[in-house]
Amino acid sequence: MSFSALGLSPAVLLAASKKSYITPTPVQVAVIPAVLWGEDVLAQAATGSGKTAAYVLPLLHLMTTGSSKVLILVPTRELAVQVGDEIKGFLAALSKNNLTKPIKLATVFGGVAINPQMMQLRGGADVLVATPGRLLDLIDKNAVRPEFFNILVLDEADRLLDMGFAVELNRILALLPAKRQSLFFSATFPDEVNALATGILHMPTRVMIESTETTKPDILQRAIFVDAERRADVLAHLIKENEGQRVLVFVASKQGAEQLANQLYAKGINTAPFHGEFSQGRRNQVLAEFKSGSLQVVVATDLAGRGIDIDGLPFVVNYDLPRSPIDYTHRIGRTGRNGASGCAISFVTAATEAHFRLIESRTHIRLTREVIAGFEPQQTSAQAVPNPGGVKGVRMSKKDKLRAAAARAEKE
Ligand code: AMP
Repeated sequence: MSFSALGLSPAVLLAASKKSYITPTPVQVAVIPAVLWGEDVLAQAATGSGKTAAYVLPLLHLMTTGSSKVLILVPTRELAVQVGDEIKGFLAALSKNNLTKPIKLATVFGGVAINPQMMQLRGGADVLVATPGRLLDLIDKNAVRPEFFNILVLDEADRLLDMGFAVELNRILALLPAKRQSLFFSATFPDEVNALATGILHMPTRVMIESTETTKPDILQRAIFVDAERRADVLAHLIKENEGQRVLVFVASKQGAEQLANQLYAKGINTAPFHGEFSQGRRNQVLAEFKSGSLQVVVATDLAGRGIDIDGLPFVVNYDLPRSPIDYTHRIGRTGRNGASGCAISFVTAATEAHFRLIESRTHIRLTREVIAGFEPQQTSAQAVPNPGGVKGVRMSKKDKLRAAAARAEKE
């Protein structure tokens, strides 16, 4: 199968080949024709499956051959930048060939000054990539006219349809034209999100890319049983064992990220924290250094769990376990991207054993608990002192939801 069989215009085909996209991925084969036909789409595809280009390429076709205007909503600034950059790459290739009318892209997100974004939006944009909070601010300032967008994309739709974004998303949906094409993409679609999506979409084409040998990311999953207070030592040991290899470590809180990064740094490991309290400039700098390899280890909150594409990242470590199985899937999806193989290691302690079992059962895996020589645990599950908050299940408590909403407001 080649891109030329999917109905894309010659100009868009040329742009794809300029970016060395020769063979479409399975999600692209399924989604591109549906988008060109004007259908709504509900697509579930794993991270790294090429889902961004699956909507960007046909939308470029629709924008360059007609008068479509596209709004792409994403949950985080990082994903906004990443999607914006992918579009920019295709637009550069398109404009070089002078085969189509120019397309104007704008990318907006919170946490940075709004004025330059308002300037950027003067005269409108053909394709706007936005986080929900900042989009609403821009609409309130009359810098964006939502009624002109006849195509809506939700990237990481499960997160945008989650409680935390409900109020913002509903406000945006009410301002968009009722007659529009909507495309929802996500790695995971839990039942309640599926129900919400079905209520918004009109007879959608459902695309589910089953994990096959060719599309399934090659991620070796491991679970290491260790005492909670020895995790930093085990981590330093593993990092030193895999000298020079980059490692993305996930922790539960900003304070945790700072603390662990300091501990590793003190052990002579080139480490930086990454969390929502950093300015956008600082976040970009950490990511750039990590991508270039000048930083070996990044200790991050779940802020880095989604969307971020670090080419060839070999290791992800769950120092603190993720709250939910969905977060687990997203976190480990940072490795094993683009056909590369990767390794995801989870630290399981006596107190978190039951929670990890829940993650295993929801993600249909069962991992052997490894013990690292020299770091044998003193505690067993039976002696476990439970977390102060108890073992958390998949559903967020009311308090957690409020906390998540507050964290998000801080980020936006
Ligand atoms: P995504 O799933 O959108 O995050 O894409 C994962 C990576 O695959 C990105 O780095 C894309 O640039 C790349 N990619 C997407 N589609 C193709 C394709 N058809 N051929 C080659 N690379 C691709």
